[in-house]
Amino acid sequence: MTTEHATTPINPWAVAQQQFDLAAERLGLDDGMRAVLREPRREFTVHFPVHMDDGSVRVFTGYRVQHNLGRGPAKGGIRYHQDVSIDEVKALAMWMTWKCAVVGIPYGGGKGGVIVDPKQLSMRELESLTRRFFTEIEVLVGPEKDIPAPDVNTNSQIMAWMMDTYSMHAGYTVPGVVTGKPISLGGSEGRNEATARCTVYCIVEAARHLGIELPKSRVAVQGFGNAGSIAATLIEDEGATVVAVSDSTGGIANPDGLEISKVIKWKKEHGTVQGFPGATDISNAEVLEVDCDILIPAALENQITERNAGNIKARLIAEAANGPTTPEADRILWKNSKFMIPDILCNAGGVTVSYFEWVQDLNRDHWSEEVVNAKLKEIMTKAFRETLAIARREQCDMRTAAYLLAVRRVADAMAMRGLYP
Ligand code: GLU
Repeated sequence: MTTEHATTPINPWAVAQQQFDLAAERLGLDDGMRAVLREPRREFTVHFPVHMDDGSVRVFTGYRVQHNLGRGPAKGGIRYHQDVSIDEVKALAMWMTWKCAVVGIPYGGGKGGVIVDPKQLSMRELESLTRRFFTEIEVLVGPEKDIPAPDVNTNSQIMAWMMDTYSMHAGYTVPGVVTGKPISLGGSEGRNEATARCTVYCIVEAARHLGIELPKSRVAVQGFGNAGSIAATLIEDEGATVVAVSDSTGGIANPDGLEISKVIKWKKEHGTVQGFPGATDISNAEVLEVDCDILIPAALENQITERNAGNIKARLIAEAANGPTTPEADRILWKNSKFMIPDILCNAGGVTVSYFEWVQDLNRDHWSEEVVNAKLKEIMTKAFRETLAIARREQCDMRTAAYLLAVRRVADAMAMRGLYP
């Protein structure tokens, strides 16, 4: 998905560093700590061959970045997308560091990506690519070192192949090396829905704070993958009306409401949400600007920029995606009294239930979905309220508040550990 408004592409790494700089300045971090936290600890690039079905060999490029290991092993997903770049993966890794710190789970931040459009691959090619890529990054990963998970265009089947590849090399089964696995292989109940569930918990908290009545509210969702489609379903369960959704091919709108279970079925059958009966086809960018109360960006980075931020009608924005809003857009939204639930808080439910999965794997345990969801709700509600308290005290937006909380936690951990040697 591209930003239709953008003239020059926005570099997500520049965005991530700007966001960090703002927080570091406000916290008065010393220059040494700033310099350390501004850069990733490790950046790893691999070029690896895969046998294609037509008999040819294709070389793919992939990355694994570990931004910070101060609070624990690196944690973060692996995405497969044609637009993956090292700068994107660096930004996503840094955001994982802050995300884990905001919710207080004992991880640092990491991320991986492969430059590929997986929709162009057969299942066999996808499996070969996954197994070879995981083999290439095995020097970095491990249950005590760096624990990958699903992200854009990766799923539980891909996690199963990664876990199997690592286990075959180890000579025994190592479930704790990746999260987001199928339940039958040590996956956690509730992991698949966790990102969307946490986004909706945050929306419920924010709506209470803002006096928005969810059953009367209209919602737009950009992105219809794991986060977007499940968030649309769960917000509908709260009584809200979903008036627009989109996927990478385009969007649809109906001011009277879209029945999400039917849209999901339509997309399964037609490969796109567009053409859905009774709805008007609109562009992906238009979804962000439709008349609604709550906007859920659940696609990719840099969707809300200085060019379109002023056109957003929603009062509440809940970032299920990572990095959908640029710092310039943040300033416009703040000026226009929009309430932003930032990515590092709003979508932290995914990695939180990943943490639960890892704990269960290490303990050879299995928790019920009720236990998982109750623990998730407790962690998210606490993180949301802590962030809101900072926003009120500091008279700042929720992103700044979440950064103040997260960067302080990471900087404190780093300072306590001291500089080696
Ligand atoms: N890819 C997800 C994220 O961006 C989940 C990461 C994880 O579970 O480790 O937060």
